[in-house]
Amino acid sequence: MTFLPLHTRRFASQVYCVLVPRSHKKGVPVEMTRPSSNLADFRDVFSKAKRIAVITGAGVSAESGVPTFRGAGGYWRKWQAQHLATPEAFARNPSRVWEFYHYRREVMLTKSPNPAHLAIAECEARLSKQGRKVVVITQNIDELHRKAGTRNLYEIHGSLFKTRCNTCGSVGENYKSPVCPALAGKGKSRFIINCNGLLRPNVVWFGETLDSNVLGEVEKELDICDLCLVVGTSSVVYPAAMFAPQVAARGVPVAEFNMESTPATTSFTFHFQGPCGTTLPPAIARHETELIS
Ligand SMILES: [Zn+2]
Repeated sequence: MTFLPLHTRRFASQVYCVLVPRSHKKGVPVEMTRPSSNLADFRDVFSKAKRIAVITGAGVSAESGVPTFRGAGGYWRKWQAQHLATPEAFARNPSRVWEFYHYRREVMLTKSPNPAHLAIAECEARLSKQGRKVVVITQNIDELHRKAGTRNLYEIHGSLFKTRCNTCGSVGENYKSPVCPALAGKGKSRFIINCNGLLRPNVVWFGETLDSNVLGEVEKELDICDLCLVVGTSSVVYPAAMFAPQVAARGVPVAEFNMESTPATTSFTFHFQGPCGTTLPPAIARHETELIS
């Protein structure tokens, strides 16, 4: 079992990939156990789970066609997206940063939840009638889980559709298109003001820390869940790298639904490879033992 060292938590607010250092000693043979991909075995575990924590990442959004602006292709116009998603960039040029987020919001108007989002939301609603709980912990800021009907949702990186005042910190929902009249043309987003402060997207930027209240709630859920699903994010990439190993360390089954497997996958009980819109729905559909559906 590999625990995340404390220094890794420094990166918790960042969208950079976080690699989990492997602590294998030289010369000591490592026992590599393969996680199971037996769906019937997973279904058996699923049918008994009372509290399910679902951790989702960029892969789920990607299957809805949402651009992630990560890696080599992560450009918006001539700027690398990761250079716009910082407090420094916003301080320097709030208009440009708002234009970037305006663009991302507009893109989302054309995107819909995919079968993975819908299956998670349906599972939550169904299990809640049986006194069982599903919570979703996501790094995605596109609100597709919310759109699909998920209620128990922790958006640890915030939302494209929330704004926060730079001065007083007040947070508000904003689904307007455009987000402010100035952005309809080439105007300045300095018009987006509140209490004389400047409104910014309520998302966690590079170099910023997560909301400690949200993180505290997430930690509680991870401590009491009896099944954890990691969906659309590999277990060496944040946030699964931060959360899933601590669940597995309690001896709680963790099931990964992802395009690829990684060395960290071996810490988990199950791994289902492929697009999560294909692998997840049958895995969490109504089980024959569920009397109330
Ligand atoms: Zn304010």
